[in-house]
Amino acid sequence: MKKVLVLEDEASIRGFIVINLRRAGYDVIEAESGEEALERLRENPDARVALLDIMLPGIDGFEVCRRIRATNSRIGIIMLTARSQEMDKVTGLMTGADDYVTKPFSPAELTARVDALVRRSGGEDPPQATGELSQPPFLLNTRNRTLEKNGQRIKLTQVEYSIMRVFMENPGKALSREEILDMVWGRDYFGELKIVDVNIRRLRLKIEDNVQNPAYITTVWGYGYKWGL
Ligand code: CA
Repeated sequence: MKKVLVLEDEASIRGFIVINLRRAGYDVIEAESGEEALERLRENPDARVALLDIMLPGIDGFEVCRRIRATNSRIGIIMLTARSQEMDKVTGLMTGADDYVTKPFSPAELTARVDALVRRSGGEDPPQATGELSQPPFLLNTRNRTLEKNGQRIKLTQVEYSIMRVFMENPGKALSREEILDMVWGRDYFGELKIVDVNIRRLRLKIEDNVQNPAYITTVWGYGYKWGL
């Protein structure tokens, strides 16, 4: 069964999330503090997605996210944010989260987000004959889902990898943010376009020579992005 970690200190909210994910067929691991969540993930390295509340006693959700990402780029991470904390969404994504859900959320919304990330982290890309996309200085290995720049491995989250793949399969083509959202997160995903921008901002930090003047992922103003090679 697909494993999901739920980190939430408020027992009633945690219970609500856990019940709904179990109903949707997930094997759910619970944690009420950041420290406990990291411990649970060490015991369950096969967890596919982690849902992280931000405001917690002890280390907060951003720090938990950072520590998970320090060793695990594969797991999908969704931050649970409060409606009033608009900036938290961006901060969370910049620390390595893939997505966020705003409280209060419906069970359908939550499971749709988790389903989308499980698909992303499951490596469900169609097999390719060569397994490699080479556009110097970049080499994307679609079998291992890894990226190299000048022969150096760049650690990517699964969402970042998927964005790179979309770009490298569409060189020189202007892609709208809606198209990127559809291709990376799936057509049935009802998230916000902002997550495209924030994930690309983070990806640029990893792949560009000069983030102030991006040469590979260029912005098409008022539209979207283009892979500039
Ligand atoms: Ca909380």
